[in-house]
Amino acid sequence: MTRVLILDDSLTVRMGLHEAFEAAGYQTVLCAKAQEAWEALAAEDCALIVLDVMLPDADGVEVLAELRRSLRTADIPVIMLSTEAEVQDRIRGMRCGADDYVGKPYDVDYLLARAHTLTRRDAVQAEGSPRVLVIEDSRTFRAFMQEIFTAAGYRVLLAENGEEGLRIALSERPDALVVDGRLPGIDGATVVRRLRMDAGLRHVPCLMLTASEDLNDELLGLEAGADSYLRKSEDPEVLLARVAALLRSAERSRSPLPETSALGPKKILVVDDDGISRQALASQFQLEGYDVTLAQSGEEALELLKAQAVDCILLDLVLGGMSGLEVCRKVKEHAEWREVPLLVLSVREDRPTVIEALNAGADDYLIKGSDMEVIRGRVRAQLRRRHFEQESRHWREEQLRQELVKAEARAAQELADTRATLLSDLAKKNEELERAKELAEAATQAKSEFLANMSHEIRTPLNAIVGMADILARTPLTSEQEGYVRVFRRAGDTLLTLINDILDLSKVESGRLELDVSSFDLQELLEKTLEFVAPRAHEKGIQLTLDFAPSLPRYRQGDAHRLRQVLTNFLGNALKFTERGSVTLRADYATQVGNLRLSVSDTGIGIPQEKHLAIFEKFTQADSSTTRKYGGTGLGLAIAKQLVELMGGAVWLESEPGKGSTFHVELPLELASSVPRARTEALPTASGSSMRILLAEDSEDNRAVFSAYLSRTSHVLTLVENGAQAIARFQEEPFDLVLMDMQMPVLDGYGATRTIRDWERESGRKPTPIVALTAFAYKEETEKSLEAGCNAHLSKPIAMRDFLEAIASYAPTPAPNALGDEISRKLQALIPGFIARWTAELADLPQGDLDAVRRFAHRLAGSGGMLGFPGLTELGRDLEAAAKVPNPAEIESRLAELSRQLDQIREQLDSQRA
Ligand code: ADP
Repeated sequence: MTRVLILDDSLTVRMGLHEAFEAAGYQTVLCAKAQEAWEALAAEDCALIVLDVMLPDADGVEVLAELRRSLRTADIPVIMLSTEAEVQDRIRGMRCGADDYVGKPYDVDYLLARAHTLTRRDAVQAEGSPRVLVIEDSRTFRAFMQEIFTAAGYRVLLAENGEEGLRIALSERPDALVVDGRLPGIDGATVVRRLRMDAGLRHVPCLMLTASEDLNDELLGLEAGADSYLRKSEDPEVLLARVAALLRSAERSRSPLPETSALGPKKILVVDDDGISRQALASQFQLEGYDVTLAQSGEEALELLKAQAVDCILLDLVLGGMSGLEVCRKVKEHAEWREVPLLVLSVREDRPTVIEALNAGADDYLIKGSDMEVIRGRVRAQLRRRHFEQESRHWREEQLRQELVKAEARAAQELADTRATLLSDLAKKNEELERAKELAEAATQAKSEFLANMSHEIRTPLNAIVGMADILARTPLTSEQEGYVRVFRRAGDTLLTLINDILDLSKVESGRLELDVSSFDLQELLEKTLEFVAPRAHEKGIQLTLDFAPSLPRYRQGDAHRLRQVLTNFLGNALKFTERGSVTLRADYATQVGNLRLSVSDTGIGIPQEKHLAIFEKFTQADSSTTRKYGGTGLGLAIAKQLVELMGGAVWLESEPGKGSTFHVELPLELASSVPRARTEALPTASGSSMRILLAEDSEDNRAVFSAYLSRTSHVLTLVENGAQAIARFQEEPFDLVLMDMQMPVLDGYGATRTIRDWERESGRKPTPIVALTAFAYKEETEKSLEAGCNAHLSKPIAMRDFLEAIASYAPTPAPNALGDEISRKLQALIPGFIARWTAELADLPQGDLDAVRRFAHRLAGSGGMLGFPGLTELGRDLEAAAKVPNPAEIESRLAELSRQLDQIREQLDSQRA
């Protein structure tokens, strides 16, 4: 039960309040002194405090201030009670945080209504189940209603007639109302009508009950505003279901309602400096159930208004101090008070005064001393007007709110629709992208396959072209024919470069290029790369320099082969686009810690800014005349960029037309922990020992080329055209080496190799070396051939030198007791002498004397191979060919290479002897 603490020194007031509160269902705690109140509050919680201003042991306003200061009591609602004389106390009290101020003598209904509103806040939170007010005059039926509603989980409020019902409805604001149609006094229809007129209760669902079968009663009830109509004879289940349905729909349409109610208690401020007239008005209105606040002057009234809101103002025109008109104007200028009905009271009846008062904002003009009934009626009318204004404003707002809700719902719907459309669009787009991606992947796959096939198709005839050109160059030719062959070889080389470039690019693009990472000596790599392009630089008279930052670590981890490819491209371009000056390869620390910066600078033609990005695109050159003037395809930089990016680095350039170019590469090349072993060229093992070689190759041209390559060697060559023939021959006679083309009709090289390996195993033979010959440049192809059982792999077109070297590396080492051992030993003994002589001759060779060079080269070519150095023979032949025309750069580079090989051989011989 809700507990109310009443602190008043008057026993009459205490008892009066006690009775009123008990009757309204509250429990009271009565205290005559502040001290008692503090003790009571310390002992138990209270939901409300009614506090007299004048106490024997304290000032009520100070008690209030103390209550507000203490954490425990700060939130307890407080209604102050005071006699009207103490206006200043009232203002003080409101300022200290009183929730209401009620004048003595108080109106019980007003006080209870306020008490209820103030305590309901907490009650609402504590309550759960809905409350039904049953207005029914029959005691039995009331009891029955209470029973069924309680059983169904409702809380029930009971009233036995219309008036009581309305009062309870007003103070309790139930969630639903069940009203008997026939009641003593005001009947059910009137109760409903009154409820419907009240903004605060308009929405309470109403169900009308009747014992009569008269249709008219039902119509009357519904017309009055009942939501539903039910006969008492109806099954109680139906009644419960109806009430539940009404509550549900009320819940749905619930909206915030104005606090004010036309039937609710009102507070009136009477401003009059004449005490008698003030008291007369006060008692009149108190009798009507209003709470009356009195002010003696305009100043007092305005100050009071600041502390406490009122529902109506009665204002005497003639006041001591501020005039009534001025007060009126001030009230009407104030935003918060403007709407409060203000009625002017005056003894004067003249037109100008009336007009002046109304112009100052008064809502009505009353003549003092008129019939009190008239004054009360006019006040009621003003209150009603204000109430309707508030109500209509509320409905306008409500309508707006509903519009807003609808608009929001529409917007939400549109948003949801848009989102759904977007999502479905997105899904569609994703699907399309997925499809496009699949198509693109399929296209890339197809492109790679096409390139692989194309490269095979092109490389096979190219092998014949390059090989034959090689062989042709070594036959006696007229100088005119030699010129033709040179063109022939150069075109073959260009074609080969182009195919290699395209293949590289397609490998990178299809993600099939894998880096071959190992430790390497960066300085050595850069030196070798420069050596490779040195002849070109020499030819053009361009200075070629390596600038290796002294403290830069040399040993690195990475794909040395690909790095060299990138640098060769930059250097090649630098030399191509530079006519005079220098080309520098620089290795230094990069801006990013741990990275390496490599740059190639030239003093050539330079590149305009707008082309700096474009030249890294495929088939793009800075200038359309480039191809005509300098040749090239525009693929080199595209490949370089892709390779660098694959290595996790970046390329860019600095260049200006006429001021040369610098191409930069920045790479994250890790330091190598171990020093890589320097690779030296192996000395051919056996000297000229003759091998039995089985060559399986389906292309007639290539069979001719390979036969030609071997024609001047002592090897015995057996030719077959496919895998099946190869197996048959291999099983018929012994071979020292098999050269197996991988793409062949009937049975391909992979199948043939596998069968041979199986046969060897089954018949307990030692495996014979098998070298795969393929036109495919893909790593997978190499791996596939090794998997099938091949020992090595050569990619077509195969230059004669590579071919012979590969074969030489498989020549069996002569056994100490083997036949010819004697001869071999004799030959071995001759080697150091030969090498020394050639070295000396080379040192004295007049390079300008072409005849002398040619003669020397010829001798070298003749003897080198015989002594077991096919490389020297090869070099001798190249040098002899180069010396046929004045070609100083080429001759010089060959001679340098020769000197290097001789040095190497000598070193090896020395170490063998040691
Ligand atoms: P290619 O040299 O075969 O034409 P690249 O992709 O290597 O193809 O180079 C593309 C273009 O970039 C060249 O054609 C040239 O216009 C320009 N270029 C590249 N390097 C240089 C350079 N060092 N100096 C001037 N122009 C250059």
